[in-house]
Amino acid sequence: MAARYDLATDPGLQEGLLQARRGTAFFARKLNELTDAELDGGSLLPGWTRRHVVAHVGYNARAIARLVEWAATGVETPMYPSLEVRDHEIDFGATLSPIALRNLFDHSAVHLSVEWRDLPDRDWANEVKTIQGRTVPATETVWMRTREVWIHAVDLGNGASFADIPEPVLERLLRDITGAWAARGTDAGLLISVTGADLVFGDTGAADPTVITGPLPAVVEWATGRGTGGVTAARGADVLPEVPAAPKWI
Ligand code: ZN
Repeated sequence: MAARYDLATDPGLQEGLLQARRGTAFFARKLNELTDAELDGGSLLPGWTRRHVVAHVGYNARAIARLVEWAATGVETPMYPSLEVRDHEIDFGATLSPIALRNLFDHSAVHLSVEWRDLPDRDWANEVKTIQGRTVPATETVWMRTREVWIHAVDLGNGASFADIPEPVLERLLRDITGAWAARGTDAGLLISVTGADLVFGDTGAADPTVITGPLPAVVEWATGRGTGGVTAARGADVLPEVPAAPKWI
């Protein structure tokens, strides 16, 4: 019999699961505020309507659930057969009727939540592989989903902003993104400083860095490539007339 509560007992993991479910509830709220006709409207992502965003978030839950099933059974089930299949699925999902699209989001979210709930402590360290080819423990699936639901709730473009995202999620996002830049060496000469917090990321050894400064939500919005509102760029004492685009993240 399935348990009615999470089997995971690690407090950090429980906190992570809470953050993922909160983000899912937030996405659901923003989605439910939209009329069926409004689903046809543009999202904040170039080339994607809101339908694409909803389809992507729904299929993403299914893909992450496959990883949790993999961790539970040891039977290898990848997120997607390939990137092409993933993209095809999103394009197809975007053509679903509004009710089917909403059901896709709801059912896939519940299914993933149940897979997490029923994963016992001993299986959370089991390794699975992401679509990018990274080998990660099953615990990572919680964070993978967390960042998807929070960021794409903003991408729906009906009023959510990065300021709605909890601070621990924003901080981890910034750590992730700047870590990816550092691994690729694309952060050369770029320093990111969060106002009101003792947080500095990026190329901390640079001699004459371009410093991007702003409140945490604004800096993360910039780092994810979603706008430059609320951030400034400076080199030495000079404020730059334009904030440079952030390096690619994913
Ligand atoms: Zn996504």
